[in-house]
Amino acid sequence: MPYKDPEIAKQKQKQYYEKNKEKIKEQQKEYQKEYKKTPQRIKTYRLSQWKSRGVICDNFDALYDHYTKTSYCDFCRCELTIDKNNTANTKCLDHDHTITDRPNFRNILCNACNVKRK
Ligand SMILES: [Zn+2]
Repeated sequence: MPYKDPEIAKQKQKQYYEKNKEKIKEQQKEYQKEYKKTPQRIKTYRLSQWKSRGVICDNFDALYDHYTKTSYCDFCRCELTIDKNNTANTKCLDHDHTITDRPNFRNILCNACNVKRK
């Protein structure tokens, strides 16, 4: 029921907030966490990571598309995983570190192959 008196309505709202403060804060946190996980955010984050590691590419959109569609390591053909903390199977973007003035992407590799190649 809406309250006719705006002051009472405000008070009720405040009371509700005070009573459910923790719950509301928790919901907001959850919401922010989910927001960070949207595909656009994940992509932006991934591209910024690549760029900071020295990956050079003419078309990062196409590269990202290729990256997301690759499920198996180019070398050992193991199934790739996406992990917060690297495992042997974590999907990696392999690039030539010695090339710094032109596109230097080489392969999509598992972490094990990527480490061996460097
Ligand atoms: Zn591999």
